[in-house]
Amino acid sequence: MRQYPKPLNRLINEFSKLPGIGGKTAQRLAFHVLSLSTPEVESLANAIRDAKQNLRYCSVCGNLTDQDPCSICSDPQRDPKVICVVESPRDVKAIERTHEFNGLYHVLHGLISPMDGIGADQLCVKELLARLDGTVKEVIMATSPTVEGEATAMYLAKLIKPLGIKTTRL
Ligand code: ZN
Repeated sequence: MRQYPKPLNRLINEFSKLPGIGGKTAQRLAFHVLSLSTPEVESLANAIRDAKQNLRYCSVCGNLTDQDPCSICSDPQRDPKVICVVESPRDVKAIERTHEFNGLYHVLHGLISPMDGIGADQLCVKELLARLDGTVKEVIMATSPTVEGEATAMYLAKLIKPLGIKTTRL
């Protein structure tokens, strides 16, 4: 990449840090940015900065939001008796798209993975248990059907069942 001017190399380098972007794609993206008008480039840069500045995790459920609590947690039409446990904000989005769930969510921000050295204390488990204050009657484990997803669901079920709360595996 030495043949490119420094600012272009820098741009390619930044793109290549993104997930799933190899060297070739990074170059293509960088050249695409160069082909844009100045207002278009500013709009792209501002969108990245705004997303980072204005999004946070909901203090109740851990979902990505620009208001706290998030729009789901603060919606009086949602059923507070059921909490659906998911790995990431992307899972919330996927389930919301089905329009079939009307309860609340809890985002763990990861799964238990002994292979990667990720234990329950690195996930938002304490926050989930803190929400089980008597209102919640059912916790649905909607973690992925992988080894990590199953291990996480089993671990949580073991913690939650003794509280007299129904646990369901999706
Ligand atoms: Zn929330």
